[in-house]
Amino acid sequence: MTTDHSPGTDCVIVINCGSSSLKFAVLPVVGEEVLIKGLAERLGGPEAVLKIERDGESARISIPSATHRGALQAAIRHMNGLNPRGIGHRMVHGGEEFTDSVVICDDMMAAVERCICLAPLHNPANLVGVRTARELFPELPQVAVFDTAFHQTLPPKAYLYAIPRTYYEELKVRRYGFHGTSHHYVLLETARLLDRRAEQTSLITMHLGNGCSACAIRNGRSADSTMGLTPSEGLVMGTRSGDVDPALHQFLQDQTGMRLGEITAMLNSRSGLLGLSGLSNDMRTLSAAAHDGHQHARLAIEVFCYRLAKSVCGLMAALDTIDALVFTGGIGENSPQVRAMTAAHLNLLGVVLDDARNAVHGRADKGSISSPESRIPCLVVPTNEELMIARETLRLIS
Ligand code: AMP
Repeated sequence: MTTDHSPGTDCVIVINCGSSSLKFAVLPVVGEEVLIKGLAERLGGPEAVLKIERDGESARISIPSATHRGALQAAIRHMNGLNPRGIGHRMVHGGEEFTDSVVICDDMMAAVERCICLAPLHNPANLVGVRTARELFPELPQVAVFDTAFHQTLPPKAYLYAIPRTYYEELKVRRYGFHGTSHHYVLLETARLLDRRAEQTSLITMHLGNGCSACAIRNGRSADSTMGLTPSEGLVMGTRSGDVDPALHQFLQDQTGMRLGEITAMLNSRSGLLGLSGLSNDMRTLSAAAHDGHQHARLAIEVFCYRLAKSVCGLMAALDTIDALVFTGGIGENSPQVRAMTAAHLNLLGVVLDDARNAVHGRADKGSISSPESRIPCLVVPTNEELMIARETLRLIS
């Protein structure tokens, strides 16, 4: 692996820490091209591995039994010639405590710990990443960027569940929304493409990746999200069901004897596109299979697009004007079929795509995939959560 960057290129390290994985990217302080990106997986086990890409070359390094600390140490060995100025961490749940990104300090860590009950799988893993980075880079400022922060502008009518108030007042049970870093980035990029000020831009953004959510953005502020208390609510996703009848758990328990935890695991990891198709959670696989006549793959895509369109219609209630419908995420950016099938359900709103622009993902025309007669412009705008976290880090440390 070569290292042809000039010595001492100022950069920001972006870390996204999972329970047994650590994803990272190194971005320059000046410029937007990722300098290094890597993923360490199966941490803590004999098959722990670090995959790293730099200067167009990739390496796969075995790091048996490495912890998050070992993985980050191995990654640092590939950062020669770079001069980290700060570290940005993706944090999943900031509850009502965090309405913006923050510089990390002990008080802030305690506040994130208070949010652990809201994200018992994600927040502890995110905190491991922060503690490890603070140990290895004690001199560097570190910033936490929350997936929920952008949605803290939701009004009570959008964030309250219609259940007794006491659950909100005592346990903070409410809708939070996630993917905020992505929706926020896409807002800024879309405003730039439309030549508008972000705070005067109203959109519905659709982040369609393995996890999926849509967001109503009113004058630059999140006004509603399809995700709720957890990222399980809302749209059909790769392996998550999205919305189901709240009585489903009871029904399944009574009929099958499944325990609550088993039902939750089924709804999170064996449902969505995977559950519907019985084939895969990957939209590429499903599109190819549907093309070859696989009926369940075809139906899974239909349910995905119909439910998405239905949610878009619901999110319109949060807006009084709309500048664009925006597709992003792995599916949103790359699947003309999903965009076309979703738009077909939005005829009544006057949405009309241009087939040729849609086929090239809007790249021929500043992201636009709609035809001139469409009452709502439609765009494809690639997301870049790492860049957004790096920008937030620089904003707070400079
Ligand atoms: P993400 O989580 O944003 O990386 O998105 C992952 C999803 O994007 C998976 O369902 C992929 O199948 C889907 N995806 C990536 N490339 C394509 C493509 N060319 N066509 C359809 N889906 C794609």
